[in-house]
Amino acid sequence: MAPLTRNQEIVLTIDGLTSEGQGVGRYEGFAVFVPFVLPGEEALVRIIKPSASYAVGKLIELKTEAPERVGPACDAFFKCGGCQLQHLEYSAQLFAKRQILVDALKRLGGFDNAEALVTDTLGGQAYGYRNKGSFPVRDVDGVARAGMFAPRSHRLIPIMRCPIACGEINAALERFCGWLADEKIPGYDEDKHRGVVRHAAFRKTTNGLMAVIVTAGNELLKKRALIDALEGVATNIVHNINPGRTNTVLGKRSVSIWGEPLEEELSGLTFVVSDQSFLQVNHDQAQRLYALALDALELTGNETVADAYSGVGTIALALAKRARRVAGIEYIKEAVADAEKNAALNGIENARFYEGTVEAVLPTLVKQTRFDAIVLDPPRKGCERAALDAVIASGAKKVAYISCNPATLARDAKILCEGGFTLVKASPVDMFSQSSHLEAMTSFCRCCNPV
Ligand code: SAH
Repeated sequence: MAPLTRNQEIVLTIDGLTSEGQGVGRYEGFAVFVPFVLPGEEALVRIIKPSASYAVGKLIELKTEAPERVGPACDAFFKCGGCQLQHLEYSAQLFAKRQILVDALKRLGGFDNAEALVTDTLGGQAYGYRNKGSFPVRDVDGVARAGMFAPRSHRLIPIMRCPIACGEINAALERFCGWLADEKIPGYDEDKHRGVVRHAAFRKTTNGLMAVIVTAGNELLKKRALIDALEGVATNIVHNINPGRTNTVLGKRSVSIWGEPLEEELSGLTFVVSDQSFLQVNHDQAQRLYALALDALELTGNETVADAYSGVGTIALALAKRARRVAGIEYIKEAVADAEKNAALNGIENARFYEGTVEAVLPTLVKQTRFDAIVLDPPRKGCERAALDAVIASGAKKVAYISCNPATLARDAKILCEGGFTLVKASPVDMFSQSSHLEAMTSFCRCCNPV
C-alpha cells in the first residue's frame, strides 16, 4: 500500500531531477515528485497526489538550498507552465540535461557505457533566445488578457513579458496587449466557445517579424488599429481563423492582412516562412544542431542521403550542398510544398521530397536506392519500428539521429544497435534554456568503433 496520503506533510531530500524538470526524492523507498526543488535540497512537502506507485508533492518550505539555486527571471515562473528550470543556474541546467540523457541511454537503452558516449551539453543563450512566442488570449473577468496556460491546464496566467522570448517578440506582445485593451477586444471564452481573439503567435525571422492573430469566428475587429499598433515591430500580420473546439493553436484558414513576405536564413540557406511552417524556435542553436548532424555524416559530395521527417527542408537542403542526391520524407503536404519552394529559392536541384510517413515511404525507398547516410529527426514519440527496420535494411553506413525526447531516443538507439549499428556519440544541444526540454544529436555508424 502507498505509504502516503493526500495533504500529508513530509520532509523530503531530493536526489534527482526528472526529464520534466521536477525534483524527485524517496520517502520510505517510495518516489515523490516535487516541482521547483533541486537535487541536494531538503524541503517540507505537502502530498497533493498520492498514487499506488508514486506521489506528487508541493513545495511548502525549503529547509536547505542547493548552491545552484538562483532567483527566476520571470515573475510568473512558479505559475506559468512554459519554463521549469529558472530556479537552477544555467550551467547546472546544462549539466542536468546531460545527466538525463546519460540515464535514459543507460536505463532504457541498455548502454552501459553511456557516460563515455555523451558529450557535454552545448549551451546557448540563457534568456531571450526564442524566436517564436505563442500566447493564448482569454476573457478574464470581462477583459481580454494574453498570457500562458498554467501547467496541464487551460487556466490563463496573464503575462506582459516572456524573458525567454527575444526582445522583438516582447515588444510585439506589449503592443498587441495595448490593442486588446484600447479597443476592448473580446477575449475567447473556451467554455462558452465565444469571443473574438483566442491566440497571438509571433515569429521573428531574419528579415522581420510575423504576427499571427487567431480568431474563433471569421471576423477580426479593429484591423486598422491593430496594424497601427503593431507597425514598427511586426512586418507581417496574418489573420488565422480557428473555429474548432480544439487545443490546436492554428486553424486551416489564414489571410495575410498586412506586410511583406518573410524569410529565414539557416545554415547559409534561405527559407520561406508562413504562419503554418515549422521552424526550430532557437535559431542559433538549430544551426549548431544541424551542423553536428552534417559533420557526423562526413560527406564527400558523392553520397546519396535520406532526410527523414524533413519538415520544410532545413536539413535536406543543407545536405544537398554536400551530397550527390538527397531524398526528404515528410507527411505534411504543405511542408513538402514549402520544401520544394525552398529548394528552388536556393537553386538546389539534387533534392527530392516525398510526401508520406517515414514508416511507409522509407521501406520502399531503401529497396530502390542505396543510401550512404540517413538523417532522422522524428517528433517526440520517436520512430516507428518499420522506419528503423528500413534504416537497418538500407546500406547506410552512417545515421544522424536528432531527438527531442531522450526516452524514445534510447529505445530507438537500442533497436538500431541490435540491427548492426554502433552508437558513436550523443551530444545534447540546449535549444530550450530554462525549460526541461532536451534536444540531442546522436551519431551511429556501421563501420567504426565507439569512442
Ligand atoms: N527536420 C525538420 C523538421 C523536424 S520536426 C527541422 O528541423 O526543421 C519533425 C517533422 O516530422 C515535422 O515536420 C512533422 O510534420 C514530421 N513528421 C512527424 N511524424 C512523421 C511521420 N511519421 N512521417 C513523416 N513525417 C513525420
